[in-house]
Amino acid sequence: MEELSPTHFLPSLPLAAPKPRRDATCETQAAATDYRAYFTRALDGLHRENRYRVFADIEREAGRFPEAIWHAPDGARPITVWCSNDYLGMGQHPAVVDALIATARRTGAGAGGTRNISGTSHPLVALERELAELHDKDAALVFTSGYVSNQATISTIGRLIPDCLIVSDAGNHNSIIEGIRQSGCDKAIFRHNDLAHLEEILHEAGNRPKIVIFESIYSMDGDTAPVAAICRLARRHGAMTYLDEVHAVGMYGARGAGVAEAQAASDLVDIVEGTLAKAYGVIGGYIAADLSIIDAVRSYAPGFIFTTALPPATAAAAAASVRHLRRSNRERLAQRRQVATVKAALTRAGLPVIPNDTHIVPVLVRDPGACRDAADRLLGTHGIYIQPINYPTVPRGTERLRITPTPLHTDTQIQALADALVEVWTALGLPRAPGAAAL
Ligand code: PLP
Repeated sequence: MEELSPTHFLPSLPLAAPKPRRDATCETQAAATDYRAYFTRALDGLHRENRYRVFADIEREAGRFPEAIWHAPDGARPITVWCSNDYLGMGQHPAVVDALIATARRTGAGAGGTRNISGTSHPLVALERELAELHDKDAALVFTSGYVSNQATISTIGRLIPDCLIVSDAGNHNSIIEGIRQSGCDKAIFRHNDLAHLEEILHEAGNRPKIVIFESIYSMDGDTAPVAAICRLARRHGAMTYLDEVHAVGMYGARGAGVAEAQAASDLVDIVEGTLAKAYGVIGGYIAADLSIIDAVRSYAPGFIFTTALPPATAAAAAASVRHLRRSNRERLAQRRQVATVKAALTRAGLPVIPNDTHIVPVLVRDPGACRDAADRLLGTHGIYIQPINYPTVPRGTERLRITPTPLHTDTQIQALADALVEVWTALGLPRAPGAAAL
């Protein structure tokens, strides 16, 4: 395939020339402030640091995932997607797509309002019932995204508990950090997955109310939290637990309820949060918990109250996906097999794969420019789409490619991925795994 330079992938920014101002008063004031300069300066900073984000224009094709079309500047080209969070390919599953279409035909496209005003549709109620059963909790509450569910829930529960201390893992996602910030609570950060440090903080906090907030699988390194141990420790110190299972639901546990289910710890988690947008292949987020918690968040969270609900068709599609993955192990087993095949192929090739026990395969590049170049070459030369992951998503110096094998990637596609990565690593002189032979 013809190779394209990175500048080919720059999105077209709305850089229209400023319109002249006519009003005399405005003219005198406008001379003083060039508002555009603030934004161009901010963007220049991103370019300088090699972390300006470029989106590839991709068209997914139901029935052919992970194959897709890339609308390159010089025309459409077939590609293979290796970085989708549609981890199990459920976004194209017939049961999910059929539920979406059939419900949209019956109910129309939109929700018609906030949950309070006409947005509490029957499919949404059924979805919440499905999610509560999945997590063995009294009730569940659906939000428009996983991000919103974290932000809205954490900020609300924090405000409802006087003098609450929020104890948060250092690796927590931005949606959790924003929720904590908006709660106005005191916070303490424990070192990532470090039980001893967590214990120290809980001990020092004494009898005040505390919530321990953590994730089950951390999406950039793909490492797993000791969920049961963290929950038991929290309980011993009288703390509530809030667990983000966004990168685990659908894929771990016998019914896809996540790592808590896999570690037989579901009943130790007070609030579990998940997404419908990744392994479930649709969109939306949720929490599941005790009825009093769900009712309080439903009643007090602005991020739940003041926004239009998920459309009924989306809710029906998500429910079909959850229902399917509660009963079917096929997708989970096939994903595990293909993940193992990818990890073995890349490790054999001497590529610096970060080891973990999950479905996420991070390959270290350690430089933002090189990471961008590697992604550009993979796409332009090999038709392989993997987004570069740079700061602030990961710490500086740990820039990487993040590969997510699905059950639908074939062994032939895996071999093509390994060959392409070796070619790119050689062409760009990227760092190999410690002790690996020359590529
Ligand atoms: N929580 C974690 C840990 C995430 O990584 C993400 C997004 O990737 C979210 C929450 C937000 O989920 P969603 O994409 O459904 O908004």
